[in-house]
Parts: sequence; structure tokens; C-alpha cells
Amino acid sequence: MNVLLRHVRWWSGAREDAGDIRIRRGVVAEMGRGLAVGRRERVLELAGHLVLPGLINCHDHLALDLLPLLGTPPYRNMYEWADDIYHPETPPISHILRVGLRDRLRWGAVRNLIAGATTVMHHDPYSRRWFTARFPVRVPARYGWSHSLGFGEDLAADFQRSSGPYVVHAAEGLDARSAAEVDQLDELGVVGRRTVLVHGVGVTTSQQRMMVEAGCGLVWCPASNLRLYGRTAPIADLKGRIRIGLGTDSTLSGSPHLLDELRAAADTGLATPDELLRMVTTDAADLLQLDAGAGRLAPHAAADLCVMPDTGRSPAETLLHTTPADLALVMVAGTPRLAAPEWATALDEGGPHARIDGRTKWLSVDVAALRARIHKATDGVGVRDNPIWHTVQADGSAGGSA
Ligand SMILES: [Zn+2]
Repeated sequence: MNVLLRHVRWWSGAREDAGDIRIRRGVVAEMGRGLAVGRRERVLELAGHLVLPGLINCHDHLALDLLPLLGTPPYRNMYEWADDIYHPETPPISHILRVGLRDRLRWGAVRNLIAGATTVMHHDPYSRRWFTARFPVRVPARYGWSHSLGFGEDLAADFQRSSGPYVVHAAEGLDARSAAEVDQLDELGVVGRRTVLVHGVGVTTSQQRMMVEAGCGLVWCPASNLRLYGRTAPIADLKGRIRIGLGTDSTLSGSPHLLDELRAAADTGLATPDELLRMVTTDAADLLQLDAGAGRLAPHAAADLCVMPDTGRSPAETLLHTTPADLALVMVAGTPRLAAPEWATALDEGGPHARIDGRTKWLSVDVAALRARIHKATDGVGVRDNPIWHTVQADGSAGGSA
């Protein structure tokens, strides 16, 4: 689909500018003022809107995003939390597991799409079967991972047999066990430039120095950390010294979605709005070794983007004031995945619409059918308390049930 986004303001990943953006064959073809309308090009008159690169959620477990917040914090570490909440034979987990993996992953994708996230780093094995070009968000395929020191088997082997980023939960807690983990990972030989540590709540000062020397990166999940442990990673000490990306973690512990996670991160005062914008775009792309142009808007880069009402503030401040109901358009590789009705019509996207926080949107996922299958499998148990279950409804339904 060839599209011309006209009269917008944008942030490219490096600078702010205004004009038109031409999208051809899935990539940004041209950005500039007063571009002529091409042949067979759909024109969206988007005056009063801001275009940002599609956001990157650096940490999620897509198959768990149907669950509600679980547990009774505070905990000393992630293992204590997991012992407390992980009872697959009893509700709500038993009921959520009755939903097929495909639908659980799709719900996780919807949770990200409604927040303008077009790429999600999935902390689980990659699934060639489900993460096709039609899956609503991009899921990077090239990565290595281990769950954590406590729930992994052979981390050194996971590290050695993988390429791209190697991602592992680490130092998720406040106690001695958490504080020892980064040293233990280092002894296993898995802390290097490829390594992406998730959480890092309990890292010590000497470990911070070691992380800087090793050149590893960190995914920051402040909402989950503050909820479970009352503390988060020492971002003020680490920023500028290592690469940092922002992640939501799953709905079991984190924010409802990435836009809320950005606000939770801003509320800590540990990073500026501009730093946060980079943590979900350019810095995230570099951390996760994504393709050239990812997390940026530039000629030849994939046309992954999100469009929101322009508040007139800086791009980063505008993003921090954006809610799922506000989003006008989300595209992955130039293909619309979410659109306000007028833009869906302009792009010739029909089919069922959804209601997101009460506002009608077109989504590339049939939300009514997905919700019906999930409700049938679970009888509503568990999903009723899922934060996104209330945010994303079938169009025409007002209640909170099916
Ligand atoms: Zn996680």
C-alpha cells in the first residue's frame, strides 16, 4: 500500500521536523515539505498529528498477557513471588491456560498494539508458527534467552548457541540472592556486549562497574519492580553508561501497557521524557540489535510508526500524555494495524471495529471473535481482572463481561 501522510509533525529518532511522509512498499520512501501526491497513493490529511517511530517494548511474555496482577507484595525476590503465584492447577492460571497459545499470543499483541508498540521482545522461545508476517506486531526472531539463573538449565549453552542479543532476568529483588546474580552470570561467562539483563533491581555498585566494562545492556521495568519490591533499578547511576531499554513485563506484574509504563517510568524521576522516548525507540533498537532503521523514521527504514494528536509539546512530552484512546494510526511495515475510523476508511480497511477505552478503532485483529473464544475457554475466570480485558472491547458492547 502506498500512502502519503500529509501535514504532520514527526520525530525521526534524531530530530523533529514537519511536512509529509511517503510510504511505499512497506518502507519510508520520502520525508519532506509539500510532496506531490503520487499515482495510486492514498492520502491521509493528518494536520494536527505527531508521527513517531513505532514503539519497541523491550520485555514482555506475550502468552501471559491475559492474566491479572497476581500476588501480595512486597517480595524479597522474583523466586518468592513465582512460588507464591504460580499454581497452574488452580484459577486463574488454570483457566487462562485453557485458551489456546495462538489466542493468548494474539491478546498479548493487542495489548502492545493499543499502546503504539510495533515491536515486542518476547521472553520465551520464538515461535515460527505464530509469529508470521500477519501477527499484529513484530517479534524479533534473532535472540538467545534464558529465563533466569533459578529457572534456567544451562545458561552458558543458551548464550553460546545463540546469536543477537542474549536476554535473561537478573537481580530481580532486594535480597542477597538477587545481589549475587550478576556476579554468578559473569562467572558463567554470559555477561558481554550481547547480554541484556532484565530488571537489575538488586545490582551492586561493583556490579554496575562490571556491567559498564562488559558493555552489557539493561531492560528497565519500573512498574513491575515498584509493585513487587518497592524499588527499581539504579537508572540514574546507569544511564549514559550502558544501553537501557524500557519494558512492560507481562500483565502479571507490570503496567497495563507500554504507554502506562512510560508514565510510571517518568513518575520515578530517574529519566527525562527525552530519555524515555529513546528507551522505547532508538536505544531499544540498538539494545536489541534490530535491523538498521528500526526505532527510527528515515528514508529506507521500515514504515513502523504510530500517530497521535499533536499537543504542541515536545514529542517526548506528547507521548507521555497519549492514551490508547488517542492513537490515530499504527502501522507495521506500512500496513495499518490500528486506525481511528476515518483513517481506516481512507485506507480502505473495513471489517469489525473494536472499542478501546470507549473509543471506536479499527484493528487488524477481530477483537469480538478473539474475546468470544477467550471467554468461552475461561468462562471469564481470570480475564475479568485482566486490565486490557476492560480496555479493549468488541464494538457495540459496553459491559465488562463477554
Ligand atoms: Zn519478565
